[in-house]
Parts: sequence; structure tokens; C-alpha cells
Amino acid sequence: MELQEIKGIGAKSLEVLNKLNIFTIDDLLTYYPYRYNIYNPIDLENASEMDVVTINVTIETTPKISYIRRNFNRLSFKALSHHLLINVVIFNRAYLYKNLDVGKNICLIGKYNKQKNTFVASELKLYWLLEPKIEPVYHTIKGVKKNQIIKYIENAIHLKEDIMDYIPLEYQKKYHFLSKADAIAILHNPKDFQSLKLAKLRSIYEEFFVFMLKINYLKNKNEHIIGIKKEYDQEKLDAFLASLPFELTTDQVKAVNECLTDLKSSKRMNRLIEGDVGSGKTIVAIIAMVANSFSGYQSALMAPTEILANQHYETLCKLVENFPIHIALLTGNLKKTKRQEILEKLKEGTIDILIGTHALISDDVTFKNLGLVITDEQHRFGVNQRGNLQNKGMLPDTIYMSATPIPRTYALTIYQDMDTSLIKTKPMGRKEIKTYVKKESELKSVLQSILEEIKLGHQIYVVAPAIMENEERNVHDVNNLKLSFDKAFNYKVKSEVLHGKINAREKEEIIKRFKTGETKILIATIVIEVGVDIKNATTMVIFNAEMFGLATLHQLRGRVGRNDLESTCFLISNYDIERLKVLEKSNDGFYISEQDFLMRKEGDLFGTRQSGDMVFKMADLRRDFKILLQTKEDSKCFLNDYRNLEKKYETLLSCVKNID
Ligand code: ADP
Ligand code: MG
Repeated sequence: MELQEIKGIGAKSLEVLNKLNIFTIDDLLTYYPYRYNIYNPIDLENASEMDVVTINVTIETTPKISYIRRNFNRLSFKALSHHLLINVVIFNRAYLYKNLDVGKNICLIGKYNKQKNTFVASELKLYWLLEPKIEPVYHTIKGVKKNQIIKYIENAIHLKEDIMDYIPLEYQKKYHFLSKADAIAILHNPKDFQSLKLAKLRSIYEEFFVFMLKINYLKNKNEHIIGIKKEYDQEKLDAFLASLPFELTTDQVKAVNECLTDLKSSKRMNRLIEGDVGSGKTIVAIIAMVANSFSGYQSALMAPTEILANQHYETLCKLVENFPIHIALLTGNLKKTKRQEILEKLKEGTIDILIGTHALISDDVTFKNLGLVITDEQHRFGVNQRGNLQNKGMLPDTIYMSATPIPRTYALTIYQDMDTSLIKTKPMGRKEIKTYVKKESELKSVLQSILEEIKLGHQIYVVAPAIMENEERNVHDVNNLKLSFDKAFNYKVKSEVLHGKINAREKEEIIKRFKTGETKILIATIVIEVGVDIKNATTMVIFNAEMFGLATLHQLRGRVGRNDLESTCFLISNYDIERLKVLEKSNDGFYISEQDFLMRKEGDLFGTRQSGDMVFKMADLRRDFKILLQTKEDSKCFLNDYRNLEKKYETLLSCVKNID
């Protein structure tokens, strides 16, 4: 059944729902409230002034309206709360006037100021609330009202008889879970806390179960696979190593050796290269790919963004210039003929190394003999996408690179199936990035430092969370910042804007102009988080730093300090100063990620816009970690009994099938 078949959903609302990532009825049903408002009527005498409280009152006087200025009005009246006569004030709800007759019983939600005997209500209901009420709150966007979403979900619940349930029967019984249909109905319309808790528990378990099932499935699969022994000419590889423009660090040498040992062995390589931003993971990957091509096999390198793919391509072009290795770049925006040509050559085997974005995993891409697959910034890809690329080759070795330092316990769970190479030290000569948290009011001094850097011939990154002005969010956006910077520097310093909505070709041009030094200030959204490597940039200014996780900020500032120049990062924020100060004190990605983890939710740990399977709708990796461990065990048992997969559990099977 399709979304459109639900009463009330037309073409227009469908579009809006899609924007909320709702494409199917299941998506709609699992569009859970992000929190619940709890209204529990109390006696005003017990109210603390700090808290938002709910009270039942009777209106005593006819409301007065005063219009303070455009779009700002104030409604006031007296009301009786038990035996207390209080003043009630409500802002910007003049339209309620006609519903507020003297003698009417209403319910107010807001804060009470004892001294002034005034209750400022933020919300109001036109009846008395006699019992506690739990009200779901949903994220919405322009074009769809909260009540519409609730209506759609209600209609979907009524319609849908066979909601896919991914928890195997035996575990449903073991844990006495609610049925999925009941749980969903409760989550969207809870009657009491006890059943809400049970419904949440069930949904969390289910999400984790499916996730761990995929992980365990991949692990099992890998264990049963024997890889290819790659034999390459060591002399050739030595010649390549000798041609590198720098000496490898000790950790890089170690990581290279681990990769080469895996390549040569009959074990199938499944390795994670973990290292902080700027630690030099790319070269390790490149050496592995070169060795792989010397042994006669093709390699693929998949990057999460076009910018990064381009950059890897350019780096590689330079490094293999004098060696008989053919490389190609495959991204989403290639002309059809060019794309066709690359695909042909891949099939013939005349391309040794293919670099690209997720375009690499489209169905029409076939290799002659893919022997090694490398995924950069691996946390950005889902399990499914990873699996897909692996299966393009017969039994390719795989390397993942990640700069997101994941606290050990979590890594063990999520990457339990991988070997890891850790690159701890950074290339020699790197200086620590000096970081300062600054209030908006201190911007002037920041501009001063920027100007000094520019006079020295250096370049600046500016980062902001939004592309365009947005009334609701009230955060800095790149377009307005460009105007402000241009003005501040008297239009004498060339700046450019870069963000995800700019088309790929133009993006390339913008980066090129920044690379050549023509542009001095690059004002970007978080698109530059990974990969951009411009050595002459020495300063980064991040606006609304409070909006980002520490791990993300650390990754961002890794864009500067890419050579031996003194580099600085300014975090501009009026909020959350204590958390941000962690970055002033430390340059150690692992420490920072632990701190981030302690102070925030896990969402950020894996990047804010991660794709794939790490997005949980109900579960929270940190809060619910015990449940995750349980599902890890349960899914393992479930998989071990292979007969399970064959008959009884077609739905479950379908969710592991697409990672085949
Ligand atoms: P990341 O680990 O963040 O992906 P990169 O691989 O992009 O880091 O490396 C960061 C920069 O350091 C690149 O410009 C790269 O050329 C340089 N680099 C890597 N290894 C070394 C080294 N051993 N000595 C000097 N520079 C290096
Ligand atoms: Mg990298």
C-alpha cells in the first residue's frame, strides 16, 4: 500500500512528507514524536517559579487586549485558581478572545510569578484537565501542520493490518514485548507512562536487533570467505615508495605493512584505518592500491563527497605520474559518453584504480577483476552501501578509513568484524591548532586576526550552519556572512560562498579559486568538513559553534594546520561555552570524542548527517547501550540457527538480503 492511499494525503502533502524522509507507510508509522509534553495539573501553591506548570482555572473577568506593536499583542484577564485570584497574561493570542467568556473553565500551561501574582501562559486549553495528559510532539516543517501529521498517522494506524515486525517470535515471547501495532499506537498516543515505556523499549530493541543482525550477518559472511593472495613485485613497489614526496611516519609505515601483509595473505582483508584528521591516512590507502594494481587487480576508492573524490583523484594523479597505472574518476555529474567510456575500460580492465563517490555502487558499474575496495570516511556510509561495493568484486579486500574516533566500547560492538590499524602520530612539523572560544561581541578582534593573516598571504575558512537566512532557526548563514565580511573588509578581500546546493562543476571551480589563492576567504557550510586540503589556509572561524558536536568541530578545524604554519581556529558562540572549551584545551581526537560523548547524545558522534544504518529513530546508542549488547547476543544466536532464516522469517530475511 502506498502513502497516497491514506486519507488526506494528496500530491502536495506527499511532497512535504518526503521532505521529512517519509516515503512509505512504515516510515510514517515510525515517525515518532521527538518528545512528549506532560501536562499534570497542580495546585498553584505548590508551583516553583522556575518550572512550567499546568493549572486549571476559571475565568473571572473579560479579557483585555493591548496591541503593543505590529505582530505583538497581549491578552490579560483575572482568573480563579482554587481560591487564589491571579492575573493571567498571554502574548500573541488575541484571536482567543472570543473563546474566553467569564465563568469558563480553562487550563493554562506556563510560569507563575508569585510576587506579581501573574501567570504567563504559553499554552492554553479550553477545558479543565482532570488527569495527567501526555502529548506527543513531532518535528514539522513549513507546509505541514502538527495536527495533519497526527491525523495521517492515525489514519495509517487504522488502515494498516500487517505492520512488518522485525523481532523474531521467540524474542517477542522471551521479553514479553507488546505487539508492534500496539506499540506504535501507544507511541503516537500514549495514555500512561507505564505503557509508553514498554512501547519505547520494544521499538528500541527492534531497531538495534535489525542493526546488529546486519552487522553479524556481514561478519559471518566474511568469515566464510577466503580472499585472493596478491602477488606483486616488491621492487616495483619500493620504487614507488621511494618516489613519495615525504617520508612516512612510524604509524603510517606500520599501517602500510599491515595492509600489505593482508593483501599477500589468503585471508580476506577487512581493515579499518583509524586516525585523527590530518594524520595521513590517504597515503596508506594509496600505497595499498598501488601494490594491488602491481599484482594485476583493480582497486576502487569511494569517498563521501565529490569534493573529496576530486581531491583524492588529483593527489593520486600526481603520485603515480611516472608509473604505469591508469586511474579514472567516476562521479555523478559525468557526461554520458565519458561515463560510458570509463565503464567500458573498467570492464576491459584498462583502468587500474577507480575513484568516485557513491556513483561507484550503481548497478551498471562492473569491474574486470576488482581486488581491493577502499572506503574513505567510512562512518558516512551505511552497512548496505559498504556491502554493495564489496560485492562488485569477486572477493575483494576491503579497507575503511575513518577519522571519527569512536569510543572503544562502541567501536568493538559496531566494528567487531574488522581489524584495525591506528595512526596516532601526525606528520612531523605539524603545529597544534590554537583554538579560542569567542562570544559574538568579540568578533572585532577575530576580524583583526583574519586581516593580519590575509596580509601575510594566508587564507581563511569561515563556517556557518545555514545556507540562507531562516527565521525559525536564527543562526548565521553563509550568504549573509559573505555580505558582512565583504563590507567589513571594504570589498577589498575576495570571498566566496560554498555549500551543498551548488552544483558540482561550480563547486570545483570555487575550490580551485581558493586553492590558487585567488579567493582569500571561503565561507562554507559543513560541506568542507572532510577532505579539503589547502595548505595555505591558516585560520578557521566557525559561527554558531554550539550547533555542532565536538567531534565535528575537531574535524572541521582539521582543515587548517595542514603544514608548518601557525594555525588558529575561532569558535564563535554565546552558548555552551564549557563544552566548546574542551577544544581549546585538547587537540586529541580521541579525548575529544569521549568528552563529546559524555556531554552530548551519540547522534553527533557519527557526524550530523550520517547516512545509512547508524540513524536510529527511537534508540540512543549511549542511553540504550545495554539493549544494544543484548541484541548483539540475540541476533547472533538467531543467525547461528540458519534454518531460521530460510522459512519462518521472510521479513527479517528481506532486511539482510539487500546487503547481499
Ligand atoms: P587524513 O588522515 O585526515 O585523511 P590526509 O591523508 O589527507 O589526512 O593527509 C593530510 C596531509 O598530510 C596531506 O596533505 C598529506 O599529503 C600530508 N601528509 C601525509 N603523510 C605525510 C607525511 N608522512 N609527511 C608529511 N606530510 C604528510
Ligand atoms: Mg582523509
